[in-house]
Amino acid sequence: MPMISSAAAAAPPARVPVEIAKLGKRLHRQVAQAIAAFNMIEPGDKVMVCVSGGKDSYTLLDILIDRQRRAPGEFEIVAVNLDQKQPGFPAHVLPEYLESRGVAFHIATQDTYSTVKRLIPEGKTMCSLCSRLRRGVLYRVAGELGATKIALGHHRDDMLQTLFMNMFFGARLKGMPPKLVSDDGRHVVIRPLAHVSEADLERWAAHRAYPIIPCNLCGNQPNMQRAQIGRMLREWERQYPGRIDNLCTAMGRVVPSHLMDRALYPFETLRASGVPDAAGDRAFDADEPLAAPRPTADWHED
Ligand code: SF4
Repeated sequence: MPMISSAAAAAPPARVPVEIAKLGKRLHRQVAQAIAAFNMIEPGDKVMVCVSGGKDSYTLLDILIDRQRRAPGEFEIVAVNLDQKQPGFPAHVLPEYLESRGVAFHIATQDTYSTVKRLIPEGKTMCSLCSRLRRGVLYRVAGELGATKIALGHHRDDMLQTLFMNMFFGARLKGMPPKLVSDDGRHVVIRPLAHVSEADLERWAAHRAYPIIPCNLCGNQPNMQRAQIGRMLREWERQYPGRIDNLCTAMGRVVPSHLMDRALYPFETLRASGVPDAAGDRAFDADEPLAAPRPTADWHED
C-alpha cells in the first residue's frame, strides 16, 4: 500500500488563477440567469445535452453537471453524441471523456455524412442539410431516451449572427430563440448559453483542456456569410465596446409599435386616444443617446 505523508495528505488544492475563478462564476451566473428567465429546466426534467466535441457543448455539459450536483434529484442529465461517420471521427474520445465525468451518456450512430455527400453537389456548402439531418436524429433519440428537454450549446454570438443572417439574407427580423418547441411539436429545445459570449467559452475551454473534436472533418468549407457577420460583430465590439451587450439586450426588449409588422401591431385601426401617455413616443427627442446606455434592471450580462 503506498504511504502518504501527512504533509502531502494535507496539501491544499492547486490554486485557480483569479481570472479563471471569475470566469467560472460568470459562466455559472449567466447560465443560471438564462435558465431562470426562460424557465428552461423544471423539476423532474430529463435533459438531453447534445455534445458534439466542440468547446460550447463541453462547457454546457460541465455547467449543467455542476448545477445538477448542487441540486441532486431536481433534474436528470443524459449526454448524447451523434457519430455521423465523418472520415477520421475519433469515436473513442467522447465515450472516454463522458465516462471520466461520471455522466450517463448515449452515442447514436447514423451515417448522415454519406447522405450529405450524395445529395450536395461538390463545392456547395453542406452544413444546412447536415444540421437538418442531425436534428432529426437527435429528436428521435430524445424520444427514445424519454428526454423532456434537449439542451444545445449555442451561445449569444451564434444567436446574434443568426439575427443578422436572417436580416441580411432573409429580410426577416428573426433570431435563434433560447427556448423553442420542435417543428414536430414533441420536444422542447433549450439554449442555456444564450447569455454567454464565445470569447468566454474559448477561455474556459482552454482552461479545461477539453478533448476538442473539430467540426470540419467532413472537409466542408465554413459558411462564409456567417463568418463575415462574425467578423463584423467583433469589429463593432472592438470599435465600440459594449455594442454586443446592447444588441443582445435589444433582442429581449422589442417594441412592436415602433417597428413595421402589421401582424404584431394594429396600425390600421390605430386612433388617437385623447389620453396622454407619459411613457409613449417622444417623437422629437434626439435620435441617438448622447452617452452609452447604462445597464438596466433586465441587463443580461456583467
Ligand atoms: S462542418 Fe461538416 S459536420 Fe459540421 S455542420 Fe457543416 S457539414 Fe456538418
